[in-house]
Amino acid sequence: MLDWLIIGGGVHGTYLSSILASRLGAGADRIRVLDPDDEPLARWYRCAHNTGMEFLRSPDVHCLGDHPFALHEFAREKRGRALARFTGPYRNQPSLELFRAHVDSIVQERSLGGMRLRGWARRLTRSRRAVRVETDDGTLDARRVVLAIGSTRSAWPWWAVELRAAGARVGHIFDRDFCRASLAPWTRAVVVGGGISAAQTALALASRGHGAVTLLTRHELREQNFDAHPCWFGGCLGAFARLFDPGLRRALIRRERNRGTVPPAIARELRRHVDEGRVEVRLAAVRRAQRLGAGLARLDLGDAGTLEVDLVVLATGFDPARPGGDWLDRAVDELPLSSASCGYPLVDGSLHWGHGIHVMGPLAELEIGPAARNIIGARLAAERLMAVA
Ligand SMILES: Cc1cc2nc3c(=O)[nH]c(=O)nc-3n(C[C@H](O)[C@H](O)[C@H](O)COP(=O)(O)OP(=O)(O)OC[C@H]3O[C@@H](n4cnc5c(N)ncnc54)[C@H](O)[C@@H]3O)c2cc1C
Repeated sequence: MLDWLIIGGGVHGTYLSSILASRLGAGADRIRVLDPDDEPLARWYRCAHNTGMEFLRSPDVHCLGDHPFALHEFAREKRGRALARFTGPYRNQPSLELFRAHVDSIVQERSLGGMRLRGWARRLTRSRRAVRVETDDGTLDARRVVLAIGSTRSAWPWWAVELRAAGARVGHIFDRDFCRASLAPWTRAVVVGGGISAAQTALALASRGHGAVTLLTRHELREQNFDAHPCWFGGCLGAFARLFDPGLRRALIRRERNRGTVPPAIARELRRHVDEGRVEVRLAAVRRAQRLGAGLARLDLGDAGTLEVDLVVLATGFDPARPGGDWLDRAVDELPLSSASCGYPLVDGSLHWGHGIHVMGPLAELEIGPAARNIIGARLAAERLMAVA
């Protein structure tokens, strides 16, 4: 039987496997990471490459090293090499390439690749003193299971679902089957969304020079450096812990997450592209969408007119409902596991949901606060989990 089975080997699951391996001096005989991809963080890299992002939004102290300055030190060793680049007002936001090279070095040093098992978790049950995880390739028993599954469902507006069903070319940048780099040429593409990923995707498509690019957003650009105020990385967490009502915690998280915002540098870049006629920005919401002949789709924008396109790219983020879907809903009913009225887990200070099941990432939001989904959230969650390791 395993000591730890981590479901999800993205940013959070990989960081936890690294910390557990280091603190417990344990390897693949005691710790395993179940994930559909062979490579650690594969899903996140796919999403990042689809947006075309070159730099992280967060500072270098939000890294997957053992201590917050690990990435900074790694960059110093690589000084002079093209990947050791930073941007931002404090020149501390690492390039994606640098972040990735740092993660690769940790994965190699700790042999984290050997801990990975390829597959999807399909069901959670209890067996004697263990949690049993049914996967698409057999069952696994572990004393502790950590759900580090990230945000599992991309948000699809209803009209886009209908348009795709009618045969139009519609894709979401966070879906497994979407790859921006291999998109066939288009005449006019529309990117739907108003946050950093939408702005970056529009810029990335415009740089391909295939055809026209419109960014369709419901609101003016809202500028913010981070997607959560830095006080949620530490300083305000005491106040969060003193809120006992999960409903109040959820309301605070909604208020404090800067959804649909763009860092000033990306906003400037977008405005420059607009001035140069390389990207058009339309402020409107889609009322109706219709597939026309010859691969075209018409979007009805109400008072803002219509838009005819041959490619719709959704950058509308993730579904805010509790991640996991049917198999986790079933575990919540069968085990049972307690949830707040927003559907998210009610957990204790060690992120224990019940029956040996722990959570991190979005599922730990009601305990870790507004930055739970971010890289710093992995560090905050792992600290809690170490208390029971
Ligand atoms: C484009 C983009 C850029 C971002 N930039 C930043 C940034 O600069 N700074 C920052 O702090 N945050 C950033 N974020 C937010 C956050 O860091 C990321 O969302 C991060 O990936 C969260 O890590 P995670 O491990 O929770 O999720 P993921 O990295 O998505 O990992 C979850 C893993 O679980 C797997 N999984 C899901 N369900 C199952 C199952 N049933 N069985 C087995 N495996 C399963 C998935 O396949 C995936 O591999 C960004 C997010 C995006 C999308």
